Amino acid sequence: MGFEAVIIKQINIEHNLAQKWQFVLLAGLVNVVACFSLAVFAEVQPATREHEEISVTNSQTSPALTGSATAAVRKGTSPDNVPDDGHIANETNLESEYINSDQNPLSAIKSSNTVPRAESVDLSEPISVPEASAPDATDISPAPTSPAEIEIVEAKGQVAHEPPRSPLIILGAEVSPGTSTRLSWKPDQSFEGIAAPTPVLVVNGLRAGPTLCLTAAIHGDELNGIEIVRRVLYEADPKKLTGTLIGVPIVNLHGFHRTSRYLPDRRDLNRFFPGNATGSSASRIAHSFFNEVIGHCDALVDLHTGSFRRTNLPQVRADLTDAAIVELSQSFGATVVLHNAGMEGTLRRAAADARIPAITLEAGEPMRLQQTAVNHGVKGIETLLNKMGMYKRVSFWGDPEPVFYRSEWIRSDQGGILFSEVNLGERVREGELLGTVTDPITNVRAEIHSPFKGRILGRALDQVVMPGFAAFRIGIETSEEDMQEQMPEATDILEGEDARNIEAAKIIRNARSADALAKEEQIATPELSE
Ligand SMILES: [Zn+2]
Repeated sequence: MGFEAVIIKQINIEHNLAQKWQFVLLAGLVNVVACFSLAVFAEVQPATREHEEISVTNSQTSPALTGSATAAVRKGTSPDNVPDDGHIANETNLESEYINSDQNPLSAIKSSNTVPRAESVDLSEPISVPEASAPDATDISPAPTSPAEIEIVEAKGQVAHEPPRSPLIILGAEVSPGTSTRLSWKPDQSFEGIAAPTPVLVVNGLRAGPTLCLTAAIHGDELNGIEIVRRVLYEADPKKLTGTLIGVPIVNLHGFHRTSRYLPDRRDLNRFFPGNATGSSASRIAHSFFNEVIGHCDALVDLHTGSFRRTNLPQVRADLTDAAIVELSQSFGATVVLHNAGMEGTLRRAAADARIPAITLEAGEPMRLQQTAVNHGVKGIETLLNKMGMYKRVSFWGDPEPVFYRSEWIRSDQGGILFSEVNLGERVREGELLGTVTDPITNVRAEIHSPFKGRILGRALDQVVMPGFAAFRIGIETSEEDMQEQMPEATDILEGEDARNIEAAKIIRNARSADALAKEEQIATPELSE
């Protein structure tokens, strides 16, 4: 073997080594891809997820949210079903029409006088654990504000001749006018030892008025709404409130404890309303909540965030073909409104079907507490309280933002690493670059362009995506000209003929037309619905 042969052999060895290294590198890359795939897969297997970025964890959970810390008294006084005989059908003036609480479908249970009076507490005053343990019903001390006191307070104010309102009977307790209290709802879907009573906050105003309900964390990993409910309820002074505020900060306590969107059986609670007393576990929980809490509401705001590593511009989602819901949705000040009838089984849809005007307020992303989103939500609800004549505030928003009649999710056709080029709320032109998806192995880069002129209402966070991933939600405002043909008449709202009603009629007509023109977007993206 000559010198040349030695060199050739050495080159061959080096070549083989290089091949081996290539193989090792390739295997490494395959592993990386596999990990990415697993990560994406895990994203759609929520029951198995463990998240690290959660801002509120089990260990930090306040005693009041563990369920053991509520001043609870319960009695089975609620009716089985919410009547749907239309006590607020086609009503558009929230301020005046809901004043008479006797029209409430559950007024029969409110007249009961056999229930214990709830303890009056200052909700903003922090509670210690011993104080918070659930007392016997007989231990509940009388609320300090008696009807006589109410009259005195009212005599000092401007409404001296108004008769004192009757107390609110809810969850087996009597809540006197002018008081706040903590109650609890227990869905009876567990065995007694581990039952988790869910805190329900009530601020009952001195004067008669509508009952507004705020619900949050039906999806247990959506945290912004929890803080929105806390701020609104704890800042409301019952002496200054007209009507009643009912707040449920964490409807899905089980999901919240596990940092999960779902119930322990992996069902989505927000697909089972109004529920069924003899159905599945989720259906029974929904039925109990709907009848014991939601049945008391004259209007409902259900708080949500984006799902599965997506974020939403603060927005109201509402069925804008319903006059009462149009009125409600236009009361959030500078908050965009998106027409969306709501999926069957959502709390919003079920409440609307039971003639309780309901909207969803979406803000931010799951698993996080975001100041901007929370501030927007609180200000929106305070503006609503002002518009409903329930609470006077110095600062609130004026005119509503324009309505986006429909929206569409834009999907990525390629898998890889998604980087967004647009921010929430940004207006985009047709053809504008929304983001890029780059395959980390092949380095093939695909661009996602907007097929419409519109506004970014929601978007995925930068992440690894699979082909078909819904990445950008664009709100599409439909022009008057597009609506001219085949429009159903919105005659049910045109009787008043004042400017506001004409505007509402226009919104209803456009929403109906958008429904006729476009398929329901949630049919295409059921996993992304509220
Ligand atoms: Zn949600």
